[in-house]
Amino acid sequence: MKLLSVIIPVYNEEGNLELLFKRLEKVLSSTDATPEYIFINDGSLDHSMEIIRQLAMKDSRVKFIDFSRNFGHQTAVTAGLDYCNGDCAIIIDADLQDPPEMITELYNKWKEGFEVAYARRRSRQGENFLKKWTARVFYRLLKKITSIQIPVDTGDFRIIDRKVINVLKQMPEQQKFLRGQISWIGFRQTAVEYDRDERHAGKTGYTYSKMIRFALDGITSFSNFPLRFATMMGFLVSAIAFLLILYALYQRLVSREFVPGWASLMLAILFMGGVQLISLGIIGEYISRMDVNVRKRPLYIVRESNLDIMQP
Ligand code: UDP
Ligand code: MG
Repeated sequence: MKLLSVIIPVYNEEGNLELLFKRLEKVLSSTDATPEYIFINDGSLDHSMEIIRQLAMKDSRVKFIDFSRNFGHQTAVTAGLDYCNGDCAIIIDADLQDPPEMITELYNKWKEGFEVAYARRRSRQGENFLKKWTARVFYRLLKKITSIQIPVDTGDFRIIDRKVINVLKQMPEQQKFLRGQISWIGFRQTAVEYDRDERHAGKTGYTYSKMIRFALDGITSFSNFPLRFATMMGFLVSAIAFLLILYALYQRLVSREFVPGWASLMLAILFMGGVQLISLGIIGEYISRMDVNVRKRPLYIVRESNLDIMQP
């Protein structure tokens, strides 16, 4: 009998949890796996935690990890993976955007011998144009500038083997970009296509600022291209500056038509200033991430759990 862990990050999902659990139960009872549910309450402000506790009271296969505050989706999933016991694990959103019925297909792929089977969105429902468009552009940009193959239009909805979980647990970086890390790890990976549903109840926990941070984490963790881009801009601007110097010397010494050139001076200063600030900003993004990793604070803090976790 195979043990399958279902990892469910939860942030303000009170309207979804019961239906989610029902649908998961229905799907999983039709497979030959024994399920284990791990709900990670990521500092929800609603009644999510009470509902999870009720589920755990009724069913001993329901485990929970209650964070001391909101640590973010990727961190919540990481905590679930840290403490799950399954031979394989499913990562699934709590808002029913990832249809639980897909698990059968993913599980079959795992049984065929794939260590990773991810669900790729053929279409996405109920999300606004801006979100779809930014996601589309982001995945394609990331593919261009990273050396690893991160599949496009794929979230974290997937099944991963115990081997992958064990490697993930050895990757201590603070900026989690799980889909990138899992691609980096390798093994046999495959895709299954699906249509992404609308969120069942509640609203998205991913604000634009969270999305931007997530995107920057993904880029900085898997690509040095922005740093190289800063260097390239430096060379380009230096080349232009060199030509301008020659031109200035020519005017001063040969043609002797040196009118006070306010406009050209301003342009040069502003352009240089812009390039320098952008480059500094790029370097800063990397340094601040190094800084966070050097501090080595715990990735998350657990307030309460029915798993065997050391709590503060
Ligand atoms: N989530 C979380 N912490 C957060 C934001 C979201 O654990 O800070 C969970 C959320 O409950 C859901 C999943 O991560 O299960 C995906 O989040 P959401 O549906 O809000 O994102 P979207 O689908 O809009 O990208
Ligand atoms: Mg969602």
